Amino acid sequence: MRPESGVRLMLVTDRLTTPYSGMLPGHVAGFYDRDEMHIDLARLAHATGTSLVHAPATGVDRGSRQVLFADRPPLAYDTLSLDVGITPDVSAIAGADRNALLVKPISTFLERLEAAETEGIPRRIAIVGGGAAGVELACALRARFGTTPAIAILTAAPLVSTLNGGVRRRLEKALARLGIDVVRDFRAASLHGSRVTAADGQVHEAGLVLVSTAARAPGWLTATGLPTTPDGFLRIGPTLQVEGEEAIFAVGDCATRTDEPREKAGVFAVRQGPVLADNLLRKARGEPLRRHHAQRTFLVILSTGDGRAIAGKGRWLAVEGSWVWRWKDWIDRRFMARFSGA
Ligand SMILES: Cc1cc2nc3c(=O)[nH]c(=O)nc-3n(C[C@H](O)[C@H](O)[C@H](O)COP(=O)(O)OP(=O)(O)OC[C@H]3O[C@@H](n4cnc5c(N)ncnc54)[C@H](O)[C@@H]3O)c2cc1C
Repeated sequence: MRPESGVRLMLVTDRLTTPYSGMLPGHVAGFYDRDEMHIDLARLAHATGTSLVHAPATGVDRGSRQVLFADRPPLAYDTLSLDVGITPDVSAIAGADRNALLVKPISTFLERLEAAETEGIPRRIAIVGGGAAGVELACALRARFGTTPAIAILTAAPLVSTLNGGVRRRLEKALARLGIDVVRDFRAASLHGSRVTAADGQVHEAGLVLVSTAARAPGWLTATGLPTTPDGFLRIGPTLQVEGEEAIFAVGDCATRTDEPREKAGVFAVRQGPVLADNLLRKARGEPLRRHHAQRTFLVILSTGDGRAIAGKGRWLAVEGSWVWRWKDWIDRRFMARFSGA
């Protein structure tokens, strides 16, 4: 909103609205309507004097400095910033790509959930993956569908294993209160029809199966020839530039700070924003770039879909209650207001 003279901004996006994942479980649970949890990119572009290119990027030609598309001419750039998120990696679960409702990409999750619902509310729902997203969605689906369907989380690793013991204990109690089963040591290997089979032969039947497990970087990033980690994420340094590339920045889930690796979470993407914006401007002005320092611990708030939430930070902090949900709601609404007031 503070235009720099001589600098033209272009936003390339495959969608005209983008969801804020922090509010996605709250939307599934019925606390927010669709508009409240989406950023209207056309409006944002208009308010910030940005040209909007509505098309999925399919490649980057670094030599000629162009972003490539399947159905439109290339777009020239002087400086490029990539922030294209992640895509699900269900290669370890045979049949999941056809039979499961994949949580990622979240930009299309809601449409796919609503399409699945048109066939009626299933009597049994399974969520494969016991990370924060899988657990929050299980709780949100309980709120959405009421007490009728049996809901189970199928998980190979311990539930929310990256969070501290206090959060994990509170979450276990919340799941018991909500009647959500946890099937442990379940490494899903295949999904055919309504039958989820684990690597050790355990079988779980469910009419609707959501998969919220591993994710990987979009495949086309590897084809750009830019340096990537073995799992395909763009390698970036402290200035948020792709390693060895002056003109290309990358942030968010699609990028990995090789010197300060962190888990993939929106909080890191959001915190990179101000340094990215500053560095893009500095680059245009020919000034030295700033270094970004990723924090080590961060606040996690998990909503349980019943007007309560559990918060944790670092090794010790773990609190719970309806006030924690109101706190999360305040943080999330305040974040979205920055984009909707434009
Ligand atoms: C259910 C759920 C709940 C979550 N809750 C939290 C939370 O509470 N806190 C937290 O820190 N993290 C949370 N996360 C993680 C968080 O969603 C991600 O870490 C965050 O969205 C990453 O931001 P990003 O900008 O890198 O990617 P994204 O938010 O995925 O944005 C990428 C954007 O790029 C667009 N795009 C993709 N490919 C192309 C292309 N080829 N051309 C043009 N545009 C393209 C997409 O449409 C999208 O708009 C949650 C995740 C899930 C699934």
